Amino acid sequence: MTVIPGEPHPGQSPFGARSETPEVATAIAVRLVDVVKKFGDVAAVDGINLEVRDGEFFSLLGPSGCGKTTTLRMIGGFEEPTSGLIELQGQDVTWLPPYRRNVNTVFQNYALFPHLTIFENVAFGLRRKGGLKDAELRRRVTEMLALVELPGFEKRKPTQISGGQAQRVALARALINRPAVLLLDEPLGALDLKLRKQMQLELKRIQQEVGITFIYVTHDQEEAMTMSDRIAVMNRGHYEQLADPETLYERPATRFVAGFLGVSNLLAGTREGIDGDHAMIRMADDTRVRVPAALLDGATDVEVGIRPEKIRIAATDAAIPATHNRLLGTVRDASYVGVSTQYVVEGRGGGRLTVYEQNVERASRAELWAPGEDVTLHWLPEHTFVIGGQRGTGD
Ligand code: ATP
Repeated sequence: MTVIPGEPHPGQSPFGARSETPEVATAIAVRLVDVVKKFGDVAAVDGINLEVRDGEFFSLLGPSGCGKTTTLRMIGGFEEPTSGLIELQGQDVTWLPPYRRNVNTVFQNYALFPHLTIFENVAFGLRRKGGLKDAELRRRVTEMLALVELPGFEKRKPTQISGGQAQRVALARALINRPAVLLLDEPLGALDLKLRKQMQLELKRIQQEVGITFIYVTHDQEEAMTMSDRIAVMNRGHYEQLADPETLYERPATRFVAGFLGVSNLLAGTREGIDGDHAMIRMADDTRVRVPAALLDGATDVEVGIRPEKIRIAATDAAIPATHNRLLGTVRDASYVGVSTQYVVEGRGGGRLTVYEQNVERASRAELWAPGEDVTLHWLPEHTFVIGGQRGTGD
């Protein structure tokens, strides 16, 4: 844990009042320019360019080994880049040690001082910085413990609190010096699922309350989506897409992103022309489906993507709205999972699609579609995304 002395920089929101001024909203907290980190022959980070905005909850999301922790450690100063530039609030900090950056880090293992009380753990950074009267120090610690909802825990030791509470103390300790940026490396990794979900909402609330830029590393897509304003989805040392959670889910730009954020159905098709706002795509079974024309920039061979919950299943002779895309198929599997039923449907063109149907209209399992039944799948063209049709997809 590095505790950095430092008051809020000009323009940074004070606690409890997230500034809405345009200058703050557009200011850049962290900028990475062509950042590369090699360990021997391995490029852990392979030329990353990104800007994290001031006051934003930003996540680096990706599978194990994709380079997210290394990226975070370079921002914190714990690792030096092999090449490239790192700026914090416009200042080049590439070669500054951690203690000279206005950044704090919260680790997964809390790293609390076991011999100190909770009060002293939280007060640690302020004491080291010095210059504060006792009453002011007490006020600031009390304010922090209230923020993380641990008032009354001041006298306890770290061994006398739960894992979730220890994580809150670690957060309070990291925030008390009002760093410009808080780095969080899988901080909820050691908690059980229920507590983890509760803490995700807590972290989001706390970040919104303090208005400090959070950069959060996780491999859990739901966690990143719950909390983040924007997410960089990383793969093999670079990110494949950087966007808000909704865009990443609804309009993934690459196969990797489509697959990493939930389940996707991807079907190969060929572009056949434009019909108003839609492009026509010919599928393997010669069916034409429409996709928003804006999603294509001239590519001919593309993959059409549809999320499982966007697809409806109907009988082959059912009346389907003319505005919907449709594909014929045969049910191959039906799994009742309580809130929904998950079907695997084999299209006439050979591809298999996963479909989620909420168990709202069908009252019993006997009413589900059964394996072997022929069905029509239909969905709105606007619920389609396209892989391989856009500029800069990197795929
Ligand atoms: P995880 O979620 O498992 O922590 P990550 O996405 O955070 O993964 P990094 O820890 O950044 O990934 O590691 C990226 C790559 O760099 C991996 O291949 C890793 O083995 C390698 N690496 C990381 N640190 C070192 C090191 N100190 N020495 C050698 N290789 C390293």
